[in-house]
Amino acid sequence: MFHFVTRSSLKFVCVAAGWLAVGHANAQTTPTPPPMKAEMTEFWEPEVKVTTPGAANANAFLTAPSDAIVLFDGKDLSKWKDQDGGAAKWDVKDGAFTVKKGTGDISTRQDFNDYQLHIEWRIPTDIQGQSQARGNSGIFMQGIYELQVLDSYGNRTYVNGQAGSIYKQSPPLVNAMRKPGEWNVYDVLYTAPRFRENGSLFSPARITVLHNGVVVQHDFTLRGDTPYIGLPKYTAHGKGPIRLQDHGDPSKPISFRNIWLREL
Ligand code: MG
Repeated sequence: MFHFVTRSSLKFVCVAAGWLAVGHANAQTTPTPPPMKAEMTEFWEPEVKVTTPGAANANAFLTAPSDAIVLFDGKDLSKWKDQDGGAAKWDVKDGAFTVKKGTGDISTRQDFNDYQLHIEWRIPTDIQGQSQARGNSGIFMQGIYELQVLDSYGNRTYVNGQAGSIYKQSPPLVNAMRKPGEWNVYDVLYTAPRFRENGSLFSPARITVLHNGVVVQHDFTLRGDTPYIGLPKYTAHGKGPIRLQDHGDPSKPISFRNIWLREL
């Protein structure tokens, strides 16, 4: 079922199997398994090793290649919309934009299938809070599958929910986080799932992610969506947008810049 089983994902499988076993054992008397809780899909061990990424400098700022779709060029959010389809209300300033808490997630106006995505994000220097309540955002592939954005610089949380994780599915291979105030870079290779005409899954989504030039997800096969509570599942869909999360945590909002995509 899994072509690559880490200790963490094994633990996940065991937890899930245990849950299923409980449901099975009680099948005759209680056909409905107990409701899932968020903690059931969170694991903390083994911790992800820290790798210090190479230094960023002016020459390392990777601008869009000629055939890319530029989703944010530093000037405006015209390529983005809010949850109602109206203009995105996040704040644009100094070549970047910042989450405007309470205005909701924003999504690209354009939808995509397979792509290469470049996106940069920065945790503010005076960030406060801990675990998931510290610079939480997220980049949702096709509006559904979350690549976590979080301040994971010296901030412990469940490993399948730290920066570079596929939320609640796959911890990053290493923690390549830059410290607050510095720009982090994600380069993503994403293959969309395919569905049959009857809606069943034909082939799952796959993702490779580089965080500051370091591979943190290597052709990971997604098990479905990335809910806070519950197990991942697939629901048939077509092309979808890049969606950025306005997370409800009370910490200072994070910023994004230099976003471009090449369809594959
Ligand atoms: Mg998030």
